[in-house]
Amino acid sequence: MAGQEQNSEKEENLNILQSTQAVIKEALDKLGYPEPVYELLKEPIRVLTVRIPIRMDNGTVKVFTGYRAQHNDAVGPTKGGVRFHPDVTEDEVKALSIWMSLKAGIVDLPYGGGKGGIVCDPREMSFRELESLSRGYVRAISQLVGPTKDIPAPDVFTNSQIMAWMMDEYSRIREFDSPGFITGKPLVLGGSHGRESATAKGVTICIREAAKTKGIEIEGARVVIQGFGNAGSYLAKFMHDAGAKVIGISDAYGALHNPEGLDIDYLLDRRDSFGTVTKLFKNTITNQELLQLDCDILVPAAIENQITKENAHKIKAKIVVEAANGPTTWEATKILTERGILIVPDVLASAGGVTVSYFEWVQNNQGYYWSEEEVNSKLEEVLVKAFDNVYRTSRTRRVNMRLAAYMVGVRKMAEASRFRGWV
Ligand code: NAD
Repeated sequence: MAGQEQNSEKEENLNILQSTQAVIKEALDKLGYPEPVYELLKEPIRVLTVRIPIRMDNGTVKVFTGYRAQHNDAVGPTKGGVRFHPDVTEDEVKALSIWMSLKAGIVDLPYGGGKGGIVCDPREMSFRELESLSRGYVRAISQLVGPTKDIPAPDVFTNSQIMAWMMDEYSRIREFDSPGFITGKPLVLGGSHGRESATAKGVTICIREAAKTKGIEIEGARVVIQGFGNAGSYLAKFMHDAGAKVIGISDAYGALHNPEGLDIDYLLDRRDSFGTVTKLFKNTITNQELLQLDCDILVPAAIENQITKENAHKIKAKIVVEAANGPTTWEATKILTERGILIVPDVLASAGGVTVSYFEWVQNNQGYYWSEEEVNSKLEEVLVKAFDNVYRTSRTRRVNMRLAAYMVGVRKMAEASRFRGWV
């Protein structure tokens, strides 16, 4: 049974990688690049698999599997989060590293994409076990990473505490303080103001820009958000504060719906650190029902493969803005676009996190730190420009927003690879 589950999970993730490759191919063809450019960019240039033995609290030793994928470093060092999750697979990490390259290209950062993951369930581990695992992972990948090589960051089920342990371990190995090794750190260790809420801020900017193109007012707009973790919960707050009506939210255990608007402050107060809140309520709906609610703006902010060819016909939102990585399949993207629903794809909408991670790295490198206002105004400038660039490409080239975003994202690394003489 467990084996079967693993197989179907693997197939699903293979599909994520394959469908990412299909869109990359289409984008490169539209831009007129020859086959070797696709051959180079369809897979990461480097993938490391590591085994990490950890002594658990009960005295036994458990061996964890971890990955670090570096997609393309023609533009600059690779950059991207580390995910702690039981469903992590090599193919998922590879696809996520490609998406990070695209994001860096779209918001014009001097990076390529990277991604890491450890197969584990942090919800069932103690603080001490998590610290050992975080440090063990850094020891295992230390040859491959560094402030000018590959810079990790938080992702699903990892946070600023985990980044602090990882930075400390790397600094011990190198024997000098290395805040620029990792981003998403606590403020006292060289973290940046605004990093924790950066992804949601970026999504908020994209929602505002997308709503303008559809003539939708944010004040009073009905918003549905899937996922109430870092991205989803901050987003719910920002939308609520902007006068929108958040009528649906969800977590891994179910969803809440109130057509009059949910009490967001109460829900924020009651959510746990893993983004769980619906367990406190009886009259919940399913995540599938949540996605199909009548609303103006739908934001998937949880996991992959949520809008597929099976349910794309039933989505009632006017705009879908993807805070999560990979929530909509390529087939579903085409169905939604044909139905006149505007999609702001993940590689654009969720790029606020890596943008402020870049700001954090710049601050670490120069040893001079910015105010929250400065960070937010720079983020605003970067994302408005990126949205405009992707939206214009989509109109002028008559392609959907995902393909337009891939065209914008892939161009910089294709050009950098060409100038370096690689292809
Ligand atoms: P998180 O771990 O803080 O929260 C995840 C949320 O999704 C939780 O509410 C969880 O209960 C819910 N969830 C998990 N499994 C689910 C399921 N099967 N069905 C419905 N809900 C489920 O994670 P996060 O940092 O908020 O990330 C969410 C998504 O946004 C991920 O796809 C992540 O890659 C993407 N993202 C996050 C950032 C960031 O800076 N946090 C940046 C870019 C992209």
